[in-house]
Amino acid sequence: VKETIRLGHVAGIRVGVNWTVLVIFTLIFVGLSAGRFPLTHPDEEPWAYAVAGGLAAVVFFLSLLAHELAHALVAQRNGIRVEGITLWLFGGVAKLLDEAKDPGADLRVAAVGPLVSLGLGATFSLLALGATAIGVEGLAVGALWWLALINAVLAAFNLVPAAPLDGGRILRALLWRRHGDRTRAAVTASRAGRSFGLMLVASGLALLVMLPGLGGLWFMLIGWFIMTAAAAEEQHAQLQHTLDGIRVGDVMSADPVTVPGRLSVDDLVASYVWRHRFSSFPVTDETGRPTGLVTLNRIKEVPFGQRSELSVQAIACPLEDVPQTSPERPLSELLLEMGGATDGRVLVLEAGRVVGIVSPTDITRSLELADLRRPGERSHL
Ligand SMILES: [Zn+2]
Repeated sequence: VKETIRLGHVAGIRVGVNWTVLVIFTLIFVGLSAGRFPLTHPDEEPWAYAVAGGLAAVVFFLSLLAHELAHALVAQRNGIRVEGITLWLFGGVAKLLDEAKDPGADLRVAAVGPLVSLGLGATFSLLALGATAIGVEGLAVGALWWLALINAVLAAFNLVPAAPLDGGRILRALLWRRHGDRTRAAVTASRAGRSFGLMLVASGLALLVMLPGLGGLWFMLIGWFIMTAAAAEEQHAQLQHTLDGIRVGDVMSADPVTVPGRLSVDDLVASYVWRHRFSSFPVTDETGRPTGLVTLNRIKEVPFGQRSELSVQAIACPLEDVPQTSPERPLSELLLEMGGATDGRVLVLEAGRVVGIVSPTDITRSLELADLRRPGERSHL
């Protein structure tokens, strides 16, 4: 889910929205102001329905945000880096950059979201009851009850034990704690997710046949999303399992040919590109320390006439933008972070020196070798 607009930071966490939020906002706004409210509270002015529907929709999104913020803050507290929160078509996503180190942390991060939604549901119920007790009635109370209901539904739906829903994560954490095998736990939770997603799609289809309308379509969409996400998670877990025990140092191309940064692009092409079969070269300074990475794609972008004037350093991808790792790092961790400006190449550094480079070809080869290592098992990339 990509953020279309960045809203800013809340409690130090980056918050953005994807344009698809407009779809769900419109659905809720129209559903409330033209559907639910006129039914539960007849004889109000049209503008009153619109205001109540709009406010309730806004507070609903704030509730979603609170749910995701809870995941993000608890994750941070447990040493997991958080990239940010994005609100979109199916609610919110808190993007976490690391995996929980132990089942306890996994459980806390997952459970706090539904807990916050439950708490909000209870709070809105109490507010509705309180408002009624002091004689307030009408649309305001109707909106509070709807907010109570929707937060309770959100908590309940998220607690279904099927990945990628929070309940699936809770299931994973509990199985992980019980059997001590994270991969197996993740695969079980993902398979539950695929089944649950399929069930939603089937129910949506049945609903669509019996009662044509948005409801059935919505179920099918959510079901399809859950199925896809669960399948991706299962693949990821299997991959980690396949690559278990393989380190970056085992698959990297060791001692790559390095290029001095002060060289001109012309000399680079003449003395390095034609002589070696590589398509990327680490760039170094006078002392041999790495300063960047130059790839064939970057050389191609330099106009012919400028090749004698520009230095390699000037066209190289600067070191701070090159993914770096150490030979000791597990390969499965590295795979998650690859890609970007360097055509999928990663520099392997040890004590400030380049000791290797990992290319997409190295990765493909290592996956094939890993498959050979375990007859009968496939990595499903
Ligand atoms: Zn959640």
